[in-house]
Amino acid sequence: MTRVPVRDDLKALEGYHSPQVHVSVRLNTNESPFPPPAAWRDAFAAELSRVEWHRYPDRAATELRNGIAAVHGVRPDQVFAANGSNEVLQTLLLTYAGPGRTVATFEPTYQLHGHIARLTGATVAEGERAADFSLDMTEVDRVLRDAQPVITFLCSPNNPTGLVEAEATIRTVLAKAPGLLVVDEAYGQFADWSAVGLIDDDTPLVVTRTFSKTWSMAGSRLGYLIGPSWLVAELDKVVLPYHLDAAKQIAGRLALTFVDEMEDRVQFIVAERERLTAAMQAMDLEVFPSGANFILFRPRSRGGREVWNALLEHDVLIRDCSGWPRLQDCLRVTIGTAAENDVFLSALSQALSPNVTNTAHTGSTEVTA
Ligand code: PMP
Repeated sequence: MTRVPVRDDLKALEGYHSPQVHVSVRLNTNESPFPPPAAWRDAFAAELSRVEWHRYPDRAATELRNGIAAVHGVRPDQVFAANGSNEVLQTLLLTYAGPGRTVATFEPTYQLHGHIARLTGATVAEGERAADFSLDMTEVDRVLRDAQPVITFLCSPNNPTGLVEAEATIRTVLAKAPGLLVVDEAYGQFADWSAVGLIDDDTPLVVTRTFSKTWSMAGSRLGYLIGPSWLVAELDKVVLPYHLDAAKQIAGRLALTFVDEMEDRVQFIVAERERLTAAMQAMDLEVFPSGANFILFRPRSRGGREVWNALLEHDVLIRDCSGWPRLQDCLRVTIGTAAENDVFLSALSQALSPNVTNTAHTGSTEVTA
């Protein structure tokens, strides 16, 4: 059969990979270690039984938007929801990026910002972060001046480094950026401040959020942004009609009634993050400070890939970033339950011990580029 060639500009693109290996302790994709509250599950099941499945869902997801707006103290016309914050990012980029336009990222950061931008045909100007992964303002100036990006992405806390951008930094970049500033706050609830408070209709600032992490709903694929109402109106024109199905709208709306349970989980995870950070700092590791539900670290005396393999031998899967650009030997662990974190810590200390012989994992794991 003749293969139809893809667009020329997509030929060199690689897909997004995240290895899914069967292990007992899975700390590789920054999910919540806890399922949603049982009361949410019951309320969801009850409402599902009343859905009129022969009808299209509410196209504007009115109740869901109202609920999100209420949680953030903004107006519903400043909220746009989609299938995971990835679809939020995609809709933003379809609306504002595209051929002939440039999007700026500061690497290393969330790979999908640049990846989706390229899928829309835009050019990506990759700025470099400093060696400690902080933003270098001279570099920011250079990229903004030379590339004149229509969208500048920041990610706070940044994935995969965990670094939270200070409010002053966001304000400075906002003042300098020639187009939109998009702050990806997929891990925003774990940090000590949010850029949502800076949003109004006169400011070209957008904050993206997700239900996947703190709301324990990665399985449902729901994310949203808060931004100026004129921007939300444009996104509504671009996104596919009825993209948010009835079940998802219910799931999200009900989740918002469990804010206290969500806060408890956040507090627990933040406390565990601090416990893990302290324990890891006592090991032979460089540990990067994190405001998220994960920690990036670099073994000092063994290669990152070697340590990742050794952990896998102990049935613990974390994210291997060691082969990613600018992240040589780095690994990223998601905060799990207390028991999972204990297993991880003990496996890690054994993996770092020079007396442990490492047997390379030979399973059919997909390796992230
Ligand atoms: N932004 C960042 C920074 C992320 O790490 C993730 C999840 N890996 C997402 C967005 C996408 O989240 P989702 O599509 O599950 O809402």
